[in-house]
Amino acid sequence: MNSANPLVPGLSLNTATVREQWNLAQMIEACARHGIPGISPWRDKLAELGAEKAAAMIRAHGLSVTGLCRGGMFPAATEAGRQAAIEDNLRAIDDAATLGAKCLVLVCGGLPAGSRDLSGARTMVRDGIAAILSHARAAGVPLAIEPLHPMYAADRCCVNTLAQALDLCDEIDPQHAPLRNGASVAALGVAVDAYHVWWDPELDSSLARAGANRLLAYHICDWLVETRDLLLDRGMLGDGVIDLRSLGRRVRAAGYSGFDEVEILSRHWWSVEPDVVLATIRERHPACVA
Ligand code: ZN
Repeated sequence: MNSANPLVPGLSLNTATVREQWNLAQMIEACARHGIPGISPWRDKLAELGAEKAAAMIRAHGLSVTGLCRGGMFPAATEAGRQAAIEDNLRAIDDAATLGAKCLVLVCGGLPAGSRDLSGARTMVRDGIAAILSHARAAGVPLAIEPLHPMYAADRCCVNTLAQALDLCDEIDPQHAPLRNGASVAALGVAVDAYHVWWDPELDSSLARAGANRLLAYHICDWLVETRDLLLDRGMLGDGVIDLRSLGRRVRAAGYSGFDEVEILSRHWWSVEPDVVLATIRERHPACVA
C-alpha cells in the first residue's frame, strides 16, 4: 500500500458504507489512500468491475479482502427457486475464490413470499448451506453465516442469534472440518456483526463456543437511539449505544484474529462526502479497539 495516511492495521471497509457515492474502483483507491488495509465488496459493486479485474486491482493496491457480501437467500416458494438460489451461491463462491476473500458472508434469507412457515424456512436455509459447502471447501472459501437481528426474520434472515447460527454449523458440519489441512478456520463458521448481536444476553457463551475456528468475520457499526429506519439508519462508530470497545475485546478473547470490518448502511452517511466518511471511520476506530 502506498498511502497518504498512516496505515490503520486491522481496519476494513465494507463497500455498503459508501455504496451510493462510489464505484468499486473508487473504493479500492480510497482505501489505499486512507490507510485502510481491508475491503469487503458487495456483489453488486463487484459485478460492475468484474471479479478478475477487481481482484487484480485489489492486489495492486495491497488490500486484503475480508469477505464477499453476500451469498445466502436460500428459502424460496418452489424447488426451482431454491435450486436457482443454490446456483447463485456457487457463483458467489467462485467470485470469492477469485478475490481471495477470507469468507463468503451468508445472509440466509427469510420467509418465502406468502409463507408463515418459519421453521420450514429455517430448514431450507440448512439444506441450502449443506448443498454448497463442498463447493466452498473445494474453492478454499469458508462460508460465514451471519445471524441478523430478529427484526429481519421475515424478509432477510431467519437465523437470528449467534447460538442459532452455531447450531446450524454444528448440524451441517459436526466435525468442525478445517477449510483445508492445517487451516486454523473451519469451512463453515459465522460472521459476527455488532449491530445484530450486541443485545444478546447469551453472546459471551456463544462467542466462546464459536472459538477461533468458527469466527470468520467481525462487522462493526453502531445502534442509534432512536433508529428511524429498520434497515438504513445504522450509526457511525461511537454515535450509538453499543460498547464497541468491550465487544471487540470479547470477540478477540474468543479467538477472532481478523479485521474490524466497518459496515454502515445509512441514508445519512450516504449523503456525506465519501472521503469524509472514511476519515471519520479512521478517527473513530481507535476507540473501538481494546
Ligand atoms: Zn454485517
